[in-house]
Amino acid sequence: MSEEARLGEAICRFGDLLYRRGYAHGSTGNISARLDDGSFLISPTNSCLGLLDPARLARVTPDGRHIGGDPPSKEAFLHLAMYEERAGARGIVHLHSTHAVAVSCLRHDDPTDVLPPITAYHVMRIGRLPLIPYYRPGDRSLTEAVRAAARRHHAVLLANHGPVVAGKSLEDAVFNAEELEETAKLRLLLEGRPTRFLDAAQIAALAAAFPS
Ligand SMILES: [Zn+2]
Repeated sequence: MSEEARLGEAICRFGDLLYRRGYAHGSTGNISARLDDGSFLISPTNSCLGLLDPARLARVTPDGRHIGGDPPSKEAFLHLAMYEERAGARGIVHLHSTHAVAVSCLRHDDPTDVLPPITAYHVMRIGRLPLIPYYRPGDRSLTEAVRAAARRHHAVLLANHGPVVAGKSLEDAVFNAEELEETAKLRLLLEGRPTRFLDAAQIAALAAAFPS
């Protein structure tokens, strides 16, 4: 099986998984995987993540040209910016998942990290999560904001919108996005309750034991 066929099938399988978990509704969310030649496959515009067809995924060159399949998601520029800044990224997931979007709508004292270190798994899979300011859909200023944050972070949260999460593989990106959504849910469940987060020494011990 070709690399394109293998990754195309994986995108559809993981899209269905995210949809069935309730992380994507209607035609929201998009998912992509980068091929060895630097181009990437991405879910088409106006597609439902639960109903993706491998034959219709869009193929896009590293400079953003559409070279195969249906027209790409209108949010393909988010993926492009993340791939350009992160050479090791092989998969990207963008969701409008409920709890992450809720956190993206809160006022944050520190927009450089908007989810606390609740669990070791969040610290290892996401780490610091910066909030990107709100831009209206279609405003290309968002591209530059994502690009700047992606230099230091593989996961970002778009204000009043949702997360963009990269991984070393497509599977890794999906698992990272799921971890982020579950941490956002925990963060909201714990709102107003005295909570013990991991401390700096515990976070440093994780970084030493599991270097990225
Ligand atoms: Zn979006």
